[in-house]
Amino acid sequence: MHDGLYKAWRVLTMDPHEPEIYEAGILVQNDRIVALDRFAVLRGTGPVYDLGRVTLCPGLINAHTHLGMSHLQGQIPKGLGFKAWADRIFSLRHQPFNEFFLFQNVEAMRTKGLAVLTDIVGGHGEQIRAILGDSGLTGFFFYELSGQCKGNLTQKVLPDKSSLAVHALYSIDPEYARQIKAWCHSTNRPFSLHLAEVPGENELFIDGKGEFADFLRFRKILPKSFVAPGTSVVSFAQSLGLLDPKTLAVHCVQVSETDLGFLADSGASVCLCPRSNTWIGVGEPQALAMYQANIPLCLGTDSLGSNESLNLWAELAVVQQLLPKSLTLPDLLALITINPAKVLGLEKDFGILAVGRTALWAVVPKPWADMH
Ligand SMILES: [Zn+2]
Repeated sequence: MHDGLYKAWRVLTMDPHEPEIYEAGILVQNDRIVALDRFAVLRGTGPVYDLGRVTLCPGLINAHTHLGMSHLQGQIPKGLGFKAWADRIFSLRHQPFNEFFLFQNVEAMRTKGLAVLTDIVGGHGEQIRAILGDSGLTGFFFYELSGQCKGNLTQKVLPDKSSLAVHALYSIDPEYARQIKAWCHSTNRPFSLHLAEVPGENELFIDGKGEFADFLRFRKILPKSFVAPGTSVVSFAQSLGLLDPKTLAVHCVQVSETDLGFLADSGASVCLCPRSNTWIGVGEPQALAMYQANIPLCLGTDSLGSNESLNLWAELAVVQQLLPKSLTLPDLLALITINPAKVLGLEKDFGILAVGRTALWAVVPKPWADMH
C-alpha cells in the first residue's frame, strides 16, 4: 500500500474508544496506521487518496479453512451427509493439488477485504504460503494432530502465527488431546478443534454406538483406546480441560442447552461455518442461542470441499438471518474482525483500525454499508 492519507466517508474502527469516524482520514506509513482521525484534522500530512463515499472496517479474518483442499472445489455434491461426504474426501485424496483454484479464491477474497486466513495445515504448505504471500495476506496456521501420542510435545517449536489443533475428539486419544492443549497453554498460543459437528457424535461419546460410531470404526478413525465417557462431546471436551478463552471450537452444531452453558462458562470462542454445515448436511448452527449466551462468535468458510467460496461476506449473510434483527453493524462485523483477532492473539495487528495496527481494511458492501 502507498504511504499517504486515505479519506473515507465512514470508518468503523471496532475500537471501543472511538468506534465510528465520519469524514475520516487514515494516515499510512510502511503499511501501518500512524494516525486516524477526522480528515479535516489530518489534512496536509500526506498525499491524499480519496476512497469516496464508502464505509471501511478492519480487514476480515477467516477463522477456519483447509486451504490444502481447495482443489476439491465443486467436486462433492451438496447435502450428502457427513459419512458420504467424508467417503468422497477419502476417494479424492490423491488428486493432484491445483494451485489455480486456491489462487482464484484467495484473490477474490483479497479484493473483498480479507486480511487473514486461518488454515488447518493439510499438505501443500509451500504453495499455500507462496500464494498468501503474493496476495499480501497473512496466514495463521494450525497444525492438526490426531490418533495416538507421537513423540514429546514439550520439544515442539513452531513459528509465530501458528499453533497446534486437535482434529476432533473422535479421532484422537484423549490424553494426547490434553497434552496438545497443555502445549498451547504453556506457549500462550490458541488451540482449536472441530467440535460437535456431526450428527451421531454425541451418541458415540454417550454409549459408543450408532451409525457414526460404526463409520469411524470401519474407517479406522476411532482410536483403539476409545472408551465412551458417557457424556456429550462438549461436556467431554470441558472435562479434559480443552475449553478456555484461548480455544476456538469449530462448528458446535450438535449442542444442547447444557453444552452451551459449558461453552459460555469456559470463555471459549466458537467458529461457525454455516455454509459448510449446509453443504455437508449436518444441520444449522444455533447461532442465536450462542449469541444470547455471550459466546464469542467467529466465522469460517471451512474448505472448498464443502463450500462454494471463501467469501466471508456470504457467510455473514447466512449467520445474520439466524441472529436478532436488532444487531448493529459493528455487532455483526465483530464476528469477522475483532472476535477472531482476540482468540488467535492477533489483536496487536488485526481486528481493529487504530494507530499502530496493520493498514488493511475492507470496504463494507451493501446492504450492510447502509446500516447505521
Ligand atoms: Zn474444518
